[in-house]
Amino acid sequence: MAIATINPTTGETLRTFEPLTDKLIEAKLEQAQQAFEQYRWTPLAQRAEWINKAADILVRDRERFGKIMTLEMGKPLKAAIAEVEKSALGCRYYAENAPKFLADVPASTDASHSFIRYQPLGPILAVMPWNFPFWQVFRFAAPALMAGNVGLLKHASNVPQCALAIEEIFQQAGFPSGVFQTLLVGADKVAAIIADERVKAATLTGSESAGASLAAVAGKHIKKTVLELGGSDPFIVLESADMEAAMETAVTARMLNNGQSCIAAKRFIVVDAIADEFEKRLAEKFQALKVGDPMNPETDLGPLATPSILQDLDQQVQECITKGARVLAGGKPLGDRPGNFYPATILTDFPAGTPADNEEFFGPVALLFRVASIDEAIQRANAIPFGLGASAWTTDEEERDRLINELEAGAVFINGLVKSDPRLPFGGIKRSGYGRELGSQGIHEFVNIKTVWVK
Ligand code: NAP
Repeated sequence: MAIATINPTTGETLRTFEPLTDKLIEAKLEQAQQAFEQYRWTPLAQRAEWINKAADILVRDRERFGKIMTLEMGKPLKAAIAEVEKSALGCRYYAENAPKFLADVPASTDASHSFIRYQPLGPILAVMPWNFPFWQVFRFAAPALMAGNVGLLKHASNVPQCALAIEEIFQQAGFPSGVFQTLLVGADKVAAIIADERVKAATLTGSESAGASLAAVAGKHIKKTVLELGGSDPFIVLESADMEAAMETAVTARMLNNGQSCIAAKRFIVVDAIADEFEKRLAEKFQALKVGDPMNPETDLGPLATPSILQDLDQQVQECITKGARVLAGGKPLGDRPGNFYPATILTDFPAGTPADNEEFFGPVALLFRVASIDEAIQRANAIPFGLGASAWTTDEEERDRLINELEAGAVFINGLVKSDPRLPFGGIKRSGYGRELGSQGIHEFVNIKTVWVK
């Protein structure tokens, strides 16, 4: 895949970038190693000052950064600006809380004193996706840098200007050179970078296939990985639910980021008693969404990030339809304009054997399932290979407890939208990956948890 900015709204190639040569990659890895030797001993207060400065720059230039994101991957500008602000929030969260998370933890043993000390590991490689081009990077970088590691970013090939802007932010914030570097390289260079002795661990957010191949190389070289992969989150609505609130959230939960979010609600699982009403109202709401230029503040639904995402999504939709699924809204690409536009689509009544059974639909397509009971809802929700998030709607306490306990997911949100929050750990189970970002758990993924015993 070429490293380039291709406007998803128009299909126009705006800028292309030469990937780094092996020689330049080598120089950057060496710089990362050299930087780590010094940076690891930098006082936490100093790191916090720099990360807070990064937050200041993000907030100051949020419009400029937001526009780069929208230009490169097509999310509505207002959402892009909100993402820049959230990235600043992530920086401030770790500036404030890292000293607490990294403090020595005393333990009572047979020693005169014993404790746990958290120490950095070294250069960490982050392989990141284009869908939240700023937030995904900052939620890795803020804890990793606060812990004293140094960061190497291999961003998705379609967001190079975001990748360069982020490197510039860390430089301007005052971090010593080499503490955070962007590597403009294709996926083909990732294996060699992980294998390099100077790189100590890696994190990848993206598809299952990318995660599996990164983890295979890391495993061979005995290096830790965190994987944040795909999802097909259920959105369960039971009879006792507050229907108004569920309806409002359902649209956002599916359409956020033009439908391209790992934690988007992808499967709407609704009990029979309210399914007719839910189906009708969801279709009305989807049809009312304004599809168009993501730079326009009125736009609800912009283009998909690349033509291949559109093709893959449409192929899944057409296969469902051909096999007998019913279309409640949308259902085919919008051929009346350039760019990667796909309409808000709802499919239902799936026979067995369609992609709706077990695949992630990465775009504005809602899959609607009717169920007879909470038992069937939970069974349906768990009957997929993924386990990232789950949103469930009920006002009944017993139902709530069952949903919390029985849903197979890294996160369960009751009567709310599944979202990432710096204060809460984020990650999945099953084929959605392993490890956690954010919260105290996130900063502890890339540290040496050193046991100290003194007599
Ligand atoms: P992708 O193709 O896997 O790309 C993600 C990153 O991995 C890019 O930087 C890509 O580089 C790189 N990559 C691709 N193949 C690789 C390989 N074989 N070895 C090493 N690196 C490789 O993912 P995507 O389709 O763009 O992103 C969408 C997926 O990410 C969805 O499944 C979504 O659910 C998931 N996602 C998960 C989370 C989460 O937190 N769990 C968050 C956001 C997205 P190139 O661009 O150069 O190919």
